[in-house]
Amino acid sequence: MQLYGHDSAKALLRIVRAHTLLFTGPEKVGRRQAAKWFAALLNCASQGLEPCGMCPSCRLFESPDHPDYREVQADMTTTTGRQNRRPEIRISQLVPRPGSADLALSHWLEARASFKVKVAVIDGAHLLNLSAANAFLKTLEEPPSQTRIILIAPSQQAVLPTLASRASIVNFSPSKPVQISGNPLARLGRFGDKPNEGEDHPAYTLNDTIEGYVKSLKSNLEDAFEAADALEKSWESSQDASDILLARLSQETPYFYQHASQALERFEDALSSYSSSHLAMQVLTLELRSLIQKS
Ligand SMILES: [Zn+2]
Repeated sequence: MQLYGHDSAKALLRIVRAHTLLFTGPEKVGRRQAAKWFAALLNCASQGLEPCGMCPSCRLFESPDHPDYREVQADMTTTTGRQNRRPEIRISQLVPRPGSADLALSHWLEARASFKVKVAVIDGAHLLNLSAANAFLKTLEEPPSQTRIILIAPSQQAVLPTLASRASIVNFSPSKPVQISGNPLARLGRFGDKPNEGEDHPAYTLNDTIEGYVKSLKSNLEDAFEAADALEKSWESSQDASDILLARLSQETPYFYQHASQALERFEDALSSYSSSHLAMQVLTLELRSLIQKS
């Protein structure tokens, strides 16, 4: 189980004691790989700085099913195979529900670890609705011993506060230093993990475009439309644009983020219904501009 880059996140994960962690950052930055690397490290027999890759636990991590590692995700497609526009993590995926065939995560966590530590990953913690989050709260508050829970979301703000407040946050960002916050780690301060000089990572350029776009929203309309054109071009070539923009918008005020994420949803609906992408982007820009001026 190898994890490239993210050196400071790895340094933190080697010493972190918190039971619940929230990994934030854009899609494809490596949050899930980091969760798996962490689980491999915790269960490795060699107790080195990296999973050894040779012990029985490490060897099982090369296959899809390690007995002490489990991921829960929302269904991204509907039963008819179409893209699910409101993906959600069901309560029965987290806590036992009569009549459900799901092996609930809380139930799975209660069983003894086969190796050392059971690691449960909720990939898409921002897709937990209030009742699912509340149902899972007891497990977060009194986690069984020898377990770790990792929540994955685009940003801290995207997750319900009841969940985020119980987790130590590890931020994975392609262009910014990895940061960690939350009480158990506050004393550690910040860790820099700068990208390699001259490395041509497409996410960096996209990040710059998105940063420029968000800044332009506070500027005059001409600048905003110009930045919108640039973003529209990147949008066509990147599947991550929406997640990265959403993560960036979450850094603004909660009022702005809440309404902006709805505007973004309408924008994506417009794109998927084959409306003019140029017009849709201009509408999004106008909406975001008026929101940012209100907040
Ligand atoms: Zn090992």
